[in-house]
Amino acid sequence: MVVGIFTCNLHHYSALNNASGRFSSYSLASHTIWVTKMEELQRHASAVYVALREAFGTPHWTRLDGVSELVSTILSQNTNDRNRDLAYARLRARFNTWDLVRDAEQSTVVDAIRPAGLANQKGPRIQNALRKITKERGALNIDFLSSLSMPEAKGWLLGIDGVGPKTAAIVLLFTYGMPAFPVDTHVHRVTGRIGLRDAKLSADATHDLMEQLSPLDASGPFHLNLIRLGREICHARTPECGICPVKHLCAYNKAR
Ligand code: SF4
Repeated sequence: MVVGIFTCNLHHYSALNNASGRFSSYSLASHTIWVTKMEELQRHASAVYVALREAFGTPHWTRLDGVSELVSTILSQNTNDRNRDLAYARLRARFNTWDLVRDAEQSTVVDAIRPAGLANQKGPRIQNALRKITKERGALNIDFLSSLSMPEAKGWLLGIDGVGPKTAAIVLLFTYGMPAFPVDTHVHRVTGRIGLRDAKLSADATHDLMEQLSPLDASGPFHLNLIRLGREICHARTPECGICPVKHLCAYNKAR
């Protein structure tokens, strides 16, 4: 993953210079600065990952099939884990299969998922996603994504109404083991304070950046430990820097 960004951009860089027929010293200098900055950020991210792992351990997760993970993640939008889990359990108890959810009366699905909030939006969103998958794949199964490149798989998921970068990244990471990096409000806030991203970088753009910064094969544990840090210590209003396991690595703490 980390090598990929350099390879990709070196190709781009070479193409630019081949087109002009000679190397531009300005482009070379800019490129060198950019590579150096990325290497610094990758080292910084690795140090944060290690410190969090030492403090919190290596978290594990229950792997769902792709369709179940997609539905669960749509339910999780704008709510907490407890409400998502309650809504998901009610939906599974009410319908034995995803086919039955897809074909059900909309009001029945909306009623089942009410604990997740925004049920009038999420119900149709889930049913539309299930219909699109059935139409395009012939069945409610999206395991074909594992045979695609990550950009291709992400592009396909983003083609479903109501699926944004975070939802797509969660499915690709937690079901298919791809090096996607979901960025929720906690990950966005914490990476900004630590100094892993520019202060103005949007959450959507932070997905792409963190994919490049995360140590190889560590996206899942790193993502989950950043969320834990945000929930338990690096609160939105009053971060508890004194007890923070990454305070020695944090730009916000150093600037206080
Ligand atoms: S040192 Fe403070 S601001 Fe930095 S990550 Fe820890 S709690 Fe957040």
